[in-house]
Amino acid sequence: MFPSENQVAGCLIGQCVGDAVGFVVEGAAASVCRPYADAVLLRGEIPGTRRGGFPFGQFSDDSQLARELVLSLMAYQPFDPADYGARIRDLFTTGRIVGGGRATAEAAARLASGVPWNESGTPPPNAGNGSAMRAGPVGLVCFNDPDRLIGLACDQGRITHADPRCSAGAVAVAGAVALAMTEGPLDVPAVAATLATWANRVDRRVGDAIAELPGIVAMSPADALPAIQAIVAADFDDGEAAGGVSPFVTTSVLWSLYAFLRTPDTYRQCLHTAVAVGGDVDTTAAMAGAMAGARVGLDGIPRPLAERIEDRGEWRLDRWRDLAGRLWRRCVAPVTGAQLRD
Ligand SMILES: [Mg+2]
Repeated sequence: MFPSENQVAGCLIGQCVGDAVGFVVEGAAASVCRPYADAVLLRGEIPGTRRGGFPFGQFSDDSQLARELVLSLMAYQPFDPADYGARIRDLFTTGRIVGGGRATAEAAARLASGVPWNESGTPPPNAGNGSAMRAGPVGLVCFNDPDRLIGLACDQGRITHADPRCSAGAVAVAGAVALAMTEGPLDVPAVAATLATWANRVDRRVGDAIAELPGIVAMSPADALPAIQAIVAADFDDGEAAGGVSPFVTTSVLWSLYAFLRTPDTYRQCLHTAVAVGGDVDTTAAMAGAMAGARVGLDGIPRPLAERIEDRGEWRLDRWRDLAGRLWRRCVAPVTGAQLRD
């Protein structure tokens, strides 16, 4: 069994939908995010609220950077970090980036000044989620090759984030996308153990935290957030639970994994868990949306939400479906020996 075109589209578009839904309330507390998530994801209401002048459906840097990674992977096999670095740089220098993070912006400025990709990453202790949030497509093209998945997740990440925790977070997100596409019911303890093993090859602080997930998945969201914050406390002071999920890579990746593993077969509920908590919810929902979308496929994503995605009037649903089809034909199906031409 190998990923279907529907699953590849589900991953890419599922990320965009999660990002777009979360973007409206990014940084807000749970007191704002929960009723918003109830309205959009449980009652199917389309919000009239605009964020920064953008209509609902505009996705942000998370999905813009994931899109550029896909385009780079399709242009240069197996991967050309210099090309991806140039695409990251151009998103910033042309002013197209939406809601960009500081570490990525600083790295883009270094790339623009001529610093090579392997020296441009923002150094530790900065450990935001900017390289993990765009790593979903790595899981699509490396679904059957963990060594390549780990290497590619790290290489695409360190262009902007040099801290190994950021690379380990990217491995976890890519790995979750790959494992999401396996057939049959998802074995949560097995998935957590595999992701922990892969992440531990890069950073034990992240891997050991992921190993705690089976116990957390059994908790309610109200209990899960303080539990996750307690796990990462030795490494990072994540503040009060009332502020929601912080942009720290370990916290936000763990929350996205929690949201996905709690209800892996229900995209809408997965996004609800990712958004209702409050905090950096465009990113938690982008990552969880990529994972759940890869599992349920485009057919499992609410169509009224998918039909709203856009990037400044471009990159709407049809264009993403086309991109997903080309990615599947070029980078996913050939792995299995299927004879398909782009
Ligand atoms: Mg964003």
